[in-house]
Amino acid sequence: MFKWPNGARAAVSLSFDDARPSQVDLGVPILNAHGVRATFYVSPPNIAQRRPQWQDALAAGHEIGNHTLSHPCTGNFPWSRANALEDYTLERMEQELIAANQFIDQTLGVTPRTFAYPCGQKFVGRGEAAQSYVPLVAKHFLAGRGFKDESVHDPLAGDLAQVMGIDGDDQSFDRLTVWIDQAVQAGGWLVFAMHDVGDFPRQAIHPDVLEAVCRYCTRPANGIWMDTVATVAAYIVRGQT
Ligand SMILES: [Zn+2]
Repeated sequence: MFKWPNGARAAVSLSFDDARPSQVDLGVPILNAHGVRATFYVSPPNIAQRRPQWQDALAAGHEIGNHTLSHPCTGNFPWSRANALEDYTLERMEQELIAANQFIDQTLGVTPRTFAYPCGQKFVGRGEAAQSYVPLVAKHFLAGRGFKDESVHDPLAGDLAQVMGIDGDDQSFDRLTVWIDQAVQAGGWLVFAMHDVGDFPRQAIHPDVLEAVCRYCTRPANGIWMDTVATVAAYIVRGQT
């Protein structure tokens, strides 16, 4: 089994996508109260709505990650039809990744070290010309997080360019605890992916649930190491060399 630091039995990372304002309004204060550092895969156009709060989040030790500049997903989503992965090339995707890093560096003064695939989708093009952009993510980042994956990440068998991302939205604390306990049993790395924080009809973690997850994962008896995606990924790289 992989050896986590300080005798921990598993690692848990909390990640939040798209730089939705509720993340800094409601999420960061809860995380800070529990001393939990999380990873925020920001969509650059959304940063402007809360720029000082994003700077405060960085100063508190949270990670800012890359989520592309324009959030391309499959054109099956009507909102992504004009910016569809089916119409992308690897060259265009690489420009997206670099441009998002530059934007984040210019606005927040930090260069992202990890990435989250928008919609969890990892391809460009269509049919026989479709290609994976996982190699680009591996080239530019320490780790790339998926979405709506169905397994805890295994630090030895898994690829850091395709870290398993588990959907943490719209679920009860009990449901999320099943995942956390599974990670502890497997000695693995659980990465939750969320969107809004609050009482939203969809794509959100309720503040009470976030609070309960933080409390559960930081209880020393549970033996969980909680840290950002970049910090855990860097530890795994060190352990493998
Ligand atoms: Zn997203």
